[in-house]
Amino acid sequence: MNAGIVLTALLTMSALLQFWLAARQFRYLQRLAERRLREAGRARVAFAFSATALEFMLTLGLTLGGGIAYLDGFWHDRPAGAAGLVASVVLASVLLHVALRIAHARIVEASLDVARFSLKELLARASRPILPIIIVAAAAGQALAWLMMTAPSTWWLWATLLWTAGLIARVWLISDQPGGGLGMPLLPSSQPLTDPRLAPRLAAALARYGLAGSEIRIIVSPPGALRANARLAGSGRSRHVELSDTLLYLLTPAEVEAVLAHEAGHWRCRHVIRDLANRALLSMAGFGALALAMHHPWILREMAIPDTSPAAWLAAAVALAPLAAVLATPLRAHWRRQMEYEADAFAATHADKQALMRALEKLDASNATDRAADPIYARFYHFHPSQTDRRRRLDTMPIR
Ligand SMILES: [Zn+2]
Repeated sequence: MNAGIVLTALLTMSALLQFWLAARQFRYLQRLAERRLREAGRARVAFAFSATALEFMLTLGLTLGGGIAYLDGFWHDRPAGAAGLVASVVLASVLLHVALRIAHARIVEASLDVARFSLKELLARASRPILPIIIVAAAAGQALAWLMMTAPSTWWLWATLLWTAGLIARVWLISDQPGGGLGMPLLPSSQPLTDPRLAPRLAAALARYGLAGSEIRIIVSPPGALRANARLAGSGRSRHVELSDTLLYLLTPAEVEAVLAHEAGHWRCRHVIRDLANRALLSMAGFGALALAMHHPWILREMAIPDTSPAAWLAAAVALAPLAAVLATPLRAHWRRQMEYEADAFAATHADKQALMRALEKLDASNATDRAADPIYARFYHFHPSQTDRRRRLDTMPIR
């Protein structure tokens, strides 16, 4: 069978599966009484489906549509051609993502009142990571192509190591810049918590959770924003907790403590490291599959890429990444949901369990997250367990 037909079939089947899941979730949302939740849920589902459909179209355009063949023709005999080819393909996908990020803010977030940015501001914030990403892509493309040629049988192991080092650097870069970093271009600024009643109380709570001395920073939300959130960032001495100012308006001190306990649970259960290990495992699977495919140059030719150099294989891998990402989603979502349950369990034993449940409910209402979802849809996509599932697990835990 022709590799081009297999690719088209895989993309079509995967798109149909997602369409079926989206339709299920639409039907589920139809039954919700609360209008804001219903509409937010629909906007999210419709947007996520359209985004994947566009990504798949780009995959087809780059492969069967001749995009990579054209770019390869331009870069082939130039110095650092591998860097140029990989960076060009990455640029195409990054530009699509910037457009999607802006559309998401304008369509989904604006309809929810969770964030308000002017178009100019959005454009500036969303396009800020383009240059760093292209530089990294060019360097990675050149390094990987070199590895493939110098170590034809073991390159994929070295590539996994290189990739994992990149992931670690990225976590370190993001978390060491409070309120900023490469991956979070839309995050507002932050300042230390100075509230004389709350600061000592939360510092004492953090000490009880085994995080004595961690700074608490408040994320200043743009006017009118409703999204409330908390996260633990940084490592070692730069480790700190970030709470959005909206979260402090919304929750009582006991509830804020419970949310802090949940975030501390992520830290105490080493979730950042485990998440990195999971990503490293997935990247090894990806590079391994690419190494196996490279034994069969006809695959590339049948996908309308006549050149079968390492650079062309890498470009094809970048083009196929959205399909791989969709296929890996259920597994990644499963891993992440387990981590949420573990953090909840930590919070239930170290803080007020009832306060945690009340806080979760308030946060879900404010962020208009799907409090409940179609069970199959949620299993596939949701990185956070539903309110009902978390409540069910928390109910089985003893009260401190
Ligand atoms: Zn969590």
